[in-house]
Amino acid sequence: KLYNEVQDLKGNIRVYCRIRPFLPQQSAKQTTIQYIGENGELVVTNPSKQGKDNHRLFKFNKIFGPAITQEEVFRDTQPLIRSVLDGYNVCIFAYGQTGSGKTYTMTGPNVTSVVDWGVNYRALNDLFNISQNRKGSIAYEVGVQMVEIYNEQVRDLLCNDSSQKRYPSNFFLLTTYLIDHFISLSILAPFHTPCISLFLFSFNLHTLGIWNTAQPNGLAVPDASMYPVNSTADVLELMNIGLMNRAVGATALNERSSRSHSILTVHVRGTDLETNAVLRGCLHLVDLAGSERVDRSEARGDRLREAQHINKSLSALGDVIFALAQKSAHVPYRNSKLTQVLQSSLGGQAKTLMFVQLNPDVESYLETISTLKFAERVS
Ligand code: ADP
Ligand code: MG
Repeated sequence: KLYNEVQDLKGNIRVYCRIRPFLPQQSAKQTTIQYIGENGELVVTNPSKQGKDNHRLFKFNKIFGPAITQEEVFRDTQPLIRSVLDGYNVCIFAYGQTGSGKTYTMTGPNVTSVVDWGVNYRALNDLFNISQNRKGSIAYEVGVQMVEIYNEQVRDLLCNDSSQKRYPSNFFLLTTYLIDHFISLSILAPFHTPCISLFLFSFNLHTLGIWNTAQPNGLAVPDASMYPVNSTADVLELMNIGLMNRAVGATALNERSSRSHSILTVHVRGTDLETNAVLRGCLHLVDLAGSERVDRSEARGDRLREAQHINKSLSALGDVIFALAQKSAHVPYRNSKLTQVLQSSLGGQAKTLMFVQLNPDVESYLETISTLKFAERVS
C-alpha cells in the first residue's frame, strides 16, 4: 500500500526553508526576515537599502519559522520517509551557511534529549515502528552506512579500522587481490583446478569486504561498511561511533564538520511473507558542508583547497537537482563525489527534499540571499 500523500505531491523535488531562532547568548539582534506566509512565501529585507525595493519575495513548498519545533518539522517530512518502506529511494539534504541549523535539523543539538531529536533519529525510529506494525505481512531488514566526503575523498565513518582515513581505491583492492591470489595459487599450485581458483576468488573478495556492501541494484554507497540495525538504540550507538570517527584527525569537530558532507544511508529490504516478493528502498540523510563563500583574498593553502572542493560539490549538486527539476535529458552526476555517491537516489523514481537553512541575523544578509538563490534555482 502506498502513501497517498507522497503520491499526490507533484514532482519529485521539494524545498523546505527553515529559519533558526536567535540564540539565547545573542543580544537582541535585527532580523532580515520580514514576512513568513502560510503558503511558503518568504520576504527578506536588505538592511543596507531604504525604500520600496529593499525586499525580495521567495516561495518554497514550506517555510518553518524560528518557533517551529523538531516534531513539527518531522511531521511534514514523515510521509516522504515512510515511502522508503514502499521501495522508494529518498534523499534529504540540509543546505545553508555554517551556523544556520543544518545539524540541528538533521541530528539535533544533542542525542540525549529526545524532544530535540532531529530528522535522522526520528526517521529511523519511525521506520522501526512501521516495520513492527507490518510484521505480520512484510519482514523488513534495515542496514545503515555512514560516510563523510571531505576534499572529494569519501571516508567510511563506520569502518572498524580507525586508522583508515580514506577509501581503498579500486586499484588498491585489485592489487591486494592479485598479490593474495598469487600467494594462494603458488601454495596450492599442485592441487590447482578451476574450481579452487573460483573458490579463492570469492574468498578473497570476501576478506576484502566487498560482499558486505555490494547490492545487486547498486543502491549501496560503494565500499562503505554496512551494519544491520534492529532498533533506535542500535542506530544511536552506530551514529556515536560515526561521530567519533569523524572527529579523528580533525583539530576541532565543528571546524571539520562544517567543511565536509556527512551522509547517513539507511537501506531497507522488505520481504512479502505471502508472495516472497522483495522490495528495496534507501534513504540518504545528508548534512552538507557550509555553503558560505570564502574570501579568496584571505584563504590560503588547505583552507582554499577545502573551499574550492566545497564550492565545486555544492554547485554540482545544484546542477544535478536543477537538471532533474527541468526534466533535462542530461543530468551531470559525474562532476562531484557527492553526486556520484548519491546518483542512484537522485532522479528517476527517487524523491528529493532540501532543507534550506537560514540564519536570521542582518549580518548574514548576503549569505542568506545566496542560499535563497541556490534554493530558488532548484525548486
Ligand atoms: P550548522 O550545522 O548549519 O553549522 P547548527 O545546527 O550547529 O548549524 O546550529 C548552530 C547553533 O544554532 C547551534 O547551537 C544549534 O543548537 C542552534 N540552533 C539551530 N537551529 C535551531 C533551532 N531551530 N532552535 C534552536 N536552536 C537552534
Ligand atoms: Mg553542522
